Amino acid sequence: MQNTDLLAIANTYGCPVYVYDAHKIESQYKRLTSAFKNVNSLKINYAVKALSNISVLKFLKELGSGIDTVSIQEVKLGLTAGYDPKDIIYTPNGVALDEIEKVAKLGVQINIDNLSILEQFGTNHPEIPVCIRINPHVMAGGNTNISVGHIDSKFGISIHQIPHILRIVENTGMTINGIHMHTGSDILDIDVFLYASEILFETAHNFKDLKFMDFGSGFKVPYNEGDIETDIEEFGERLSLRFKEFCSKYGKEVTLAFEPGKFLVSEAGYFLTTVNAIKQTTSTVFAQVDSGFNHLIRPMLYGSQHTIVNLSNPEGKERFYSVVGYICETDTFANNRRIKEITEGDILAFKNAGAYCYMMASNYNSRYRPAEILWYNNKAHLIRERENFDDLIKHQIIVDL
Ligand SMILES: *Cc1c(COP(=O)(O)O)cnc(C)c1O
Repeated sequence: MQNTDLLAIANTYGCPVYVYDAHKIESQYKRLTSAFKNVNSLKINYAVKALSNISVLKFLKELGSGIDTVSIQEVKLGLTAGYDPKDIIYTPNGVALDEIEKVAKLGVQINIDNLSILEQFGTNHPEIPVCIRINPHVMAGGNTNISVGHIDSKFGISIHQIPHILRIVENTGMTINGIHMHTGSDILDIDVFLYASEILFETAHNFKDLKFMDFGSGFKVPYNEGDIETDIEEFGERLSLRFKEFCSKYGKEVTLAFEPGKFLVSEAGYFLTTVNAIKQTTSTVFAQVDSGFNHLIRPMLYGSQHTIVNLSNPEGKERFYSVVGYICETDTFANNRRIKEITEGDILAFKNAGAYCYMMASNYNSRYRPAEILWYNNKAHLIRERENFDDLIKHQIIVDL
């Protein structure tokens, strides 16, 4: 998208506003599928929690994607977007058996990451095949060394508990149709990821009815110029080769699955804000925008460094700013950032605002959640209205005491 497109959206719809470039989502999707073009059966399940707007889900569905969900509400959003239940995988953690059973009843693929739930689910529904989430205990430690750890992670069933899984499967007569891992760490070091994959391949040989193997996510995207990102093309080439070897040893073709969130939508997103005030203190120059961690919490929660561009003064000379918000709380988006000279009223764009940004927005300070725009074929489509005062009080019950 051009800066002028973003400025036009800010003018038309007002700030703060989230904008998603559908073409970027499409090119990321195609980059991933073409990296694995040599695999006979590939399935991409977009991780809905990154950005769950139904129009975005529909767009990904048109591209051929399935979805990965973590709650029954995300499953329902997917069904509303038109996904076939068989193109939905549900990967809950710490969720009650009751909800898991409800999702299974909808015909969605269940992924279980807990022995107690596995035993109960298998006892109640031995006829429903399930996927199991394995914790391979692999972590990337430093640049090249592989360390085995993560023993206390709340996710997945430990590879050391395979004998117990097998006992449950035998006792209940249930079928395991998939195995899954998602370590949550970045695939920066392809060797580390392939090492974890070997553990999954080894585990797979314990299960005779696999239809798919799901390697989760962890694809890293650049946030700033010069950031390292996963070399998807090299990764695709190497894992595809290894996967084909596995399939021939396993004796049948299984589907290779991934569930990227950030990779597909992060770079497609821009968060547009207006500068309310410039405030010079003894030590710094603050640019205060009409937002805060109520709309974009990643910088404060994770220390994410979102690139900030002054759309209103692209040719200006650079100066140093601390970009902060307007809520009554420390809400620093960026410290001592070099940005083109800012004047009150300028529009600032935060990049990489597609994944885990709108989704974590709240009404703190009783501010409205922003609008969302999907940009496609040179046209801005409003896909969520800005909230209003009625939304804020919708569920309040005003009592006279
Ligand atoms: C969050 C999540 C993902 C997506 O992770 P990204 O880093 O956004 O790609 C994939 N799988 C599961 C199970 C998740 O919880």
